[in-house]
Amino acid sequence: MIISEDKKYVMNTYSRFPITLVQGKGTKVWDENGKEYLDFVAGIAVNALGHSHPAVVESVKSQVDKLIHISNLYWNSNQIQLAKMICEKSFGKSAFFCNSGAEANEAAIKLARKYGNTKYNGRRYKIITAKNSFHGRTYGALTATAQPKYHKNFEPLLEGFESVEYNDINSLKSAIDENTCAVMLEVIQGEGGINEAKDEYLQQVRKLCDENDLLLIFDEVQTGIGRTGKLFAYEHSGVVPDVMTLAKALGGGFPIGVLVVNEKADVFTPGDHGSTFGGNPLACAVGMAVMKNVAQESFLNTVKENGEFFKSQLLAMKEKHSIIDKVKGKGLMIGVKLDIEEGSDIVKKAMEKGLLINLLSHNVLRFVPPLIITKEEIAKGMNILEEVFVEMGY
Ligand SMILES: *Cc1c(COP(=O)(O)O)cnc(C)c1O
Repeated sequence: MIISEDKKYVMNTYSRFPITLVQGKGTKVWDENGKEYLDFVAGIAVNALGHSHPAVVESVKSQVDKLIHISNLYWNSNQIQLAKMICEKSFGKSAFFCNSGAEANEAAIKLARKYGNTKYNGRRYKIITAKNSFHGRTYGALTATAQPKYHKNFEPLLEGFESVEYNDINSLKSAIDENTCAVMLEVIQGEGGINEAKDEYLQQVRKLCDENDLLLIFDEVQTGIGRTGKLFAYEHSGVVPDVMTLAKALGGGFPIGVLVVNEKADVFTPGDHGSTFGGNPLACAVGMAVMKNVAQESFLNTVKENGEFFKSQLLAMKEKHSIIDKVKGKGLMIGVKLDIEEGSDIVKKAMEKGLLINLLSHNVLRFVPPLIITKEEIAKGMNILEEVFVEMGY
């Protein structure tokens, strides 16, 4: 019943799985028939603390009783406190709040152009991004997203963007010209198939940006807030950006996006940018609850350890099942490149057996479970996946 109503009234923008989820707790969700699923999707790397985590639930409940929204015409202490938490735990000097990843990237794009145009007489507006990237669906973020399949039928896109090969410093070097103001990258490409930037590449990118006075923007919308076993993925390489965008996990399921900048990139002044809902007391209350839990060293160490366990399970499975071509990723952001063209039947079969996983680019399985997942739950999920491989003759 719910699904047929959906088809009638909800716009046809997603090819959804034929289940309706009605409840969640920890790493599990249930559909309307009471069937239980182990959730290795976590709302696409969003539910960092799992479903109905007491800290998240409590932060929402206590805040809705006090104040939900006031606009940004006035100060609200939750926004100030969350900005402080994020800046103190990162390279950040200040933060701007919005409501999604795409919005955070739009803000970063505007900021980069202001930086280049004001410093160089309107001549520096070009932003370089990487092929296979994903930065969101609004026009700036969509143009930055260098994957033709997302652009088709939506031209003309924004002017002043160029894409280069990821992990190829010469490709970047030759794209920089007198109009370039910024380089925008994911530290690990998420939607593009869980592709990690090499440390050496990031170091060279940083150097090129410094030599040419370009802002280095890291889109940590997916990698940020503990996903890779560090609070921010840039910490693995030690290469610090000038600008960072965050969203997905920060709200623990509640929509929030953030633009974080260092001193040099702190160029917005009143009137430059804004958001009606951005950084409202409720979103920031949840953000603080998530940060308080995830930013603990012991929490992050467990993510790292469990991520390694997860990968070792997959590598062991690779020995037995040749369908696994490559195991990629860091922490609990893991990809499995399959040795077949199309993996959607594997995802479907796993779902029938009570495991939710996600497919990228037709043949990369993505595992982004809640960060609170245990080794037992990882092993349980891997058993289901192995059963699927066996039954399908892989
Ligand atoms: C999901 C994602 C976005 C877009 O975020 P939305 O909240 O869907 O707008 C941008 N960048 C990266 C790296 C993402 O993974």
